[in-house]
Amino acid sequence: MATKRIAVLTSGGDAQGMNAAVRAVVRTALDKGADVYAVYEGYQGLVEGGARIHKMDWDSVGGILQQGGTVIGTARSEEFRTRDGRRTAALNLVRLGIDGLIVIGGDGSLTGANLFRQEWPSLLSELVQNGNLEAETAAKYPHLVIVGMVGSIDNDFSGTEMTIGADSALHRITDAVDAITSTAASHQRTFIVKVMGRNCGYLALYGALATGADWVLIPEAPPDVDNWQEVMVERLKAGIRAGRRDHIVIMAEGAQDRYGNYIGSSDVQRVLEEGLGEEVRTTVLGHVQRGGRPSAYDRNLATLLGYEAVIAVLEAKPEDDAVVVGTKANRTIRLPLMECVERTRQVAEAIKARDYEKAMSLRSTSFNHSFRTLKTMVRALPHPPEPGQKRFRIAVLNAGAPAPGMNTAVRAAVRLGLDEGHIMLAASNGFEGLADGEVKEMQWTSVNGWASVGGSVLGTSRKVPKGKDMYAIARTIENHRIEALLVIGGWNAYEGVYNMMNERANFPAFNIPIVCLPASINNNLPGSEFSIGADTALNNIVEAIDKIKQSAVATRRCFVVEVMGHWCGYLALMGALATGAERFYLPEEGITLSQLQEDVTMLRRGFNLGKRLGLVIRNEDANPIYSTNFICSLFEEEGKDVFDVRPAILGHLQQGGDPSPFDRIQATRLTRLCLEHLIEQCRESDTTNCFIGLQNGKFVFHDMRDFDRVGDLKFQRPRDQWWLQLRTIANIMAKLSPEA
Ligand code: ATP
Ligand code: MG
Repeated sequence: MATKRIAVLTSGGDAQGMNAAVRAVVRTALDKGADVYAVYEGYQGLVEGGARIHKMDWDSVGGILQQGGTVIGTARSEEFRTRDGRRTAALNLVRLGIDGLIVIGGDGSLTGANLFRQEWPSLLSELVQNGNLEAETAAKYPHLVIVGMVGSIDNDFSGTEMTIGADSALHRITDAVDAITSTAASHQRTFIVKVMGRNCGYLALYGALATGADWVLIPEAPPDVDNWQEVMVERLKAGIRAGRRDHIVIMAEGAQDRYGNYIGSSDVQRVLEEGLGEEVRTTVLGHVQRGGRPSAYDRNLATLLGYEAVIAVLEAKPEDDAVVVGTKANRTIRLPLMECVERTRQVAEAIKARDYEKAMSLRSTSFNHSFRTLKTMVRALPHPPEPGQKRFRIAVLNAGAPAPGMNTAVRAAVRLGLDEGHIMLAASNGFEGLADGEVKEMQWTSVNGWASVGGSVLGTSRKVPKGKDMYAIARTIENHRIEALLVIGGWNAYEGVYNMMNERANFPAFNIPIVCLPASINNNLPGSEFSIGADTALNNIVEAIDKIKQSAVATRRCFVVEVMGHWCGYLALMGALATGAERFYLPEEGITLSQLQEDVTMLRRGFNLGKRLGLVIRNEDANPIYSTNFICSLFEEEGKDVFDVRPAILGHLQQGGDPSPFDRIQATRLTRLCLEHLIEQCRESDTTNCFIGLQNGKFVFHDMRDFDRVGDLKFQRPRDQWWLQLRTIANIMAKLSPEA
């Protein structure tokens, strides 16, 4: 069989992560023995042909992983909208023997791609009739295989949970809103922030959730009253009475009232200035949201989708419909392209027809849940308890090492609990504080501003309670009449609760419902694919490595970067995938001398061929003997005058910093579920202890009695780790060019 030839192009608006996608497509195709071409300037390049369609090799996509935008260019092409244009495009492809096309773009680009695929046979026969193409050549390429990938910061595409670029855009938005919040608070001001999204409130809603904004306006769910202006002003005024100094209103471009009239930021500004009698400032974020470096998530998402797209092209049968590769429940999936485009359109149409109920029903469940959660979180003060309602005394604490997002979770717990009419308590300094009786009652305003701060405001401690601590903890639970406990933390937190559960026979006070919420940068907690803090740590690692790489452009140098994770290699592997590291060393695999020898050989060969930079990532506990310093010395000695070596031990910068948008959102979602669960348990007098987690796209509560079955107590990590399967892809991407 002839070598398969694949072309890739980016089209429509650019999005961060498109480069990572192109890189993955090119390298996967080459790895699988296919020829691969990049089409510059989107469909316009396809129509123009010639130098616009460029054969790619392994190194032509080197160094682009961390760049924003798209290096192969994108365009809006009027010519491709015409049949003449598409016929020329077909000729350009067929001349090069290309009959597989991967399109990275929005709904428009994918519609165009599908049309092109449908027309392909007739376009070729027209070319033959016109004498532009020989019949035998046309006969060799009877079908065009199309695979799509959605690159769009709006996250507006049905079927895939995330589009390439949306997470990075959320990073831009949270950074901007965090910055605005600090100035707003200093001046007692109200700010309006307008974000992108004509038919999709994703960025506005999740941006508001992540930053603790006070009001949000999205196209799918306009205010359900006519006097929304008054309601908004009243709510913000209540916030001022409750002690708030600043307000942030986030609105999507497509914000509208329930009659479909667009709401402009100047309308909102006027309403607020008149209503509040104070200065109101507006910031329109615009293209800032599209720009800048892709987040760790977007790099990895784009890489995995790029890989899958090539596999889909290679596996496609001629009669198959066009597919789009996307992500669902944290796995890559293939979806029927046109069906997804159709559903995406339906949302826009429903909004246009003012059928907002339908628009919301077409959005995911998590979108709907998030909207409801946000509506609670923005209240200035909680609903008063229902008359005669049973008010439970629920305590929260942080335990284990600090993880970014812990404060977001505590804030959500306090507010959601108070709003349900319960009494919310918080213990300082983890189980130690609980043992010392450091428990205080929390008010709605006690957690103002906590959504966006890193570390743990309550304080945390790594101490796992045992022996005498148990008496003290039991006493505190009794003294404060704690009826339920939410423990937000890492391995030590889980172990602490596990120990308490096993001491129930001795301490009746422990017969209360307790839920553990996974918060650890290591992502090593059983029953959950993600723990809060891991995404922030991964972004910290990726940012640090980007800088380290830049520091070495002119030299032949190999960096050995050591990352945290304890006995879990998540940060090392995902960090390697997101930075293009040549090698990664995981505790799950260990390190052997023969492997180190191979790696030295690989590095020497690479540097001899002109490579300027090497990068290996080592998890801190990958091997007790072959330490980072050992590896550096070994590489240095063996690298001789071919290359030199520098260690970079990233240390605690991984644990610090403000939580990423994903960690904040995840913290809020998990907390809401935990709290609902605890309240339900209190009502039912169910005292089962458990831990929550996201698995296969579902939130699951595991019985704490299964802790040792799901978790590997010796290595302090889950027995089953979903991300290990990504090693194959990481290894392909990191290979030296096949010629080397
Ligand atoms: P985004 O909306 O995220 O910016 P998009 O892919 O939806 O991205 P569009 O401007 O709709 O952006 O489409 C990009 C290009 O795709 C168009 O300029 C055109 O060349 C091609 N295209 C879009 N729709 C069609 C169509 N129906 N038929 C042929 N080509 C199309
Ligand atoms: Mg579009």
